[in-house]
Amino acid sequence: MSSDSWLPPDEAGLDTLAVHAGTRSEQPEGAVTVPIFQTSTYTFRDTAELRSHFSGEPHRMEYGRYGNPTQVACERKLAALEGTDAALLFASGMSAVTTTLLALVRAGQHVILVGDCYRRTRQFCQTVLAKFGVETTLVGAGDLGAIDAAIQKNTRVVVTESPTNPYLNCIDVAALKALKTKGRRFKVMIDATFATPINMRPHARGADLVVHSATKYLGGHNDLLAGVVCGSQPIIDAIREMQGILGGIVDPHAAYLLIRGLKTLPLRVRQQNATAMRLAAMLEAHPKVDQVWYPGLESHPTHAIARETMRGYGGVVSFALKADLDATSRFIDATRLFGIGPSLGGVESLIEQVALMSYIELTTEQRAAIGISDSLVRMAVGLENVEDLEADLLAALEAF
Ligand SMILES: *Cc1c(COP(=O)(O)O)cnc(C)c1O
Repeated sequence: MSSDSWLPPDEAGLDTLAVHAGTRSEQPEGAVTVPIFQTSTYTFRDTAELRSHFSGEPHRMEYGRYGNPTQVACERKLAALEGTDAALLFASGMSAVTTTLLALVRAGQHVILVGDCYRRTRQFCQTVLAKFGVETTLVGAGDLGAIDAAIQKNTRVVVTESPTNPYLNCIDVAALKALKTKGRRFKVMIDATFATPINMRPHARGADLVVHSATKYLGGHNDLLAGVVCGSQPIIDAIREMQGILGGIVDPHAAYLLIRGLKTLPLRVRQQNATAMRLAAMLEAHPKVDQVWYPGLESHPTHAIARETMRGYGGVVSFALKADLDATSRFIDATRLFGIGPSLGGVESLIEQVALMSYIELTTEQRAAIGISDSLVRMAVGLENVEDLEADLLAALEAF
């Protein structure tokens, strides 16, 4: 097999794509891995080369804000994993979300956003887009009736996450796409950070754009910030144009770390799926636990959708204890293997009391009004032995 620009066939499995897609090309000195092209700019042999560059072909690198070879290799791998024509990397997940939305909408247009979503995405739509004359309607997660009713002539994009945060509601992307009847022109944009392409491939079910915070599972080691948007070539080109203006580009070193992380993504996600499933079942049976939200449990409101449309249920489990704010804090403090912190998807397990991490400025009553109880805990499992994580949780449940 020639090693030059080997592209896996479409039917290659996700594990093969994760290892080889985009990155199996001829590297300097026969290196197996893609080097970090730590350069800000690129020079031209002569002005003739410059002229041919700007006349289109052959395309080459020009300046770091418009692309970097390490970044391009990583984008090819991500596009292969999502099954899209193209992918575009960013400095962070928020940069991917905001640049994409700014590329899609203009004054006078309308966005529909699922309420149970990343708080900064909601803030961006409700405060930043609002400043520029773009209106946002918030709807309940997966409430297709409410989305259908909210669609206006000027609706440009419907943004949802699946699974959502923190209640892990899963959305049937195909059913959402089916709302795009004649005369409706909106794009379907899915933030699939919690799902990863291993558990769900929204593009295959009709999503126009798939966004991830690559900081989470895609990177997988709690050591980088990045974001990505995947979609058809014309839309990605338009978003790339906006990125060239806004400047939220990925660093070449982060792109390298992301390539490295992606190679083990399928392995990591399968393990995290299995660990989370077992811990969710243990928690649900525990007398000190009030309720567990995990799409793999039959008790979860969107279990049926998850079972039908996903290959795994993910590594995040949310649960409420039979406890008040302080007793819940004592439980969190009593865990030893879990780091107390935001984020998810890395090899290290993390845990957070949602009321303190994201909603500390609200009172108990205000939090209850938006559906966040003081005893709500979000756990993101890493790659430790499940027996050790289970023993740690059981001991902490005894202790509070
Ligand atoms: C973390 C996260 C983001 C933001 O990503 P950053 O990389 O932190 O900018 C967006 N959406 C979801 C669902 C997230 O979990």
